Amino acid sequence: MVILSRYEINFKPSEDLFWVKTKEISICPCCGQPLSGYDHHLRLVRLRCGIKVRLLVPRGFCRNCHHLHTQLPSFVQPYKHYEAMVIQQVMDGKTLSTCPAEDSTIRRWQSALRHAAPYFETLLYAANHTKRPLFGESFLTKVQKSSRRWLTSVTRMLISARVDLPTCFAFTPPG
Ligand SMILES: [Zn+2]
Repeated sequence: MVILSRYEINFKPSEDLFWVKTKEISICPCCGQPLSGYDHHLRLVRLRCGIKVRLLVPRGFCRNCHHLHTQLPSFVQPYKHYEAMVIQQVMDGKTLSTCPAEDSTIRRWQSALRHAAPYFETLLYAANHTKRPLFGESFLTKVQKSSRRWLTSVTRMLISARVDLPTCFAFTPPG
């Protein structure tokens, strides 16, 4: 998995499909070598406005370690069917009345975040090779304050540190 910062999205009206084209050279998170284009695969993503779109996302192949990596545009949250900002706003406790997720999903995300926060905090310190201080502001709070798209920043940090994303994102279960 790689998170793309620079990409282009084209729409194919005949197939009702959005096509993501990468505008950057992605680096393999396993070995650090550049990825070459391999294919595209289909993702369904529910946007902030509530519309569900069909998105073809690229996959890159590493010729060095032979791993295949999905190259996800930064507005999509890995392993979720929602735009990253939808999940971030729920975590920030914002605009719940306009959230496209169902109430039960929102409650599940919030409850899972509360339970996983200490574990998540430890992962962030590990990903940044710093020791967790006994006192002071949490790492997560610092990122939340410094980045408008903090969830994407955190995701990118964990991927580049090769932290197991499915486990650490257990606080936002699929749905
Ligand atoms: Zn590789």
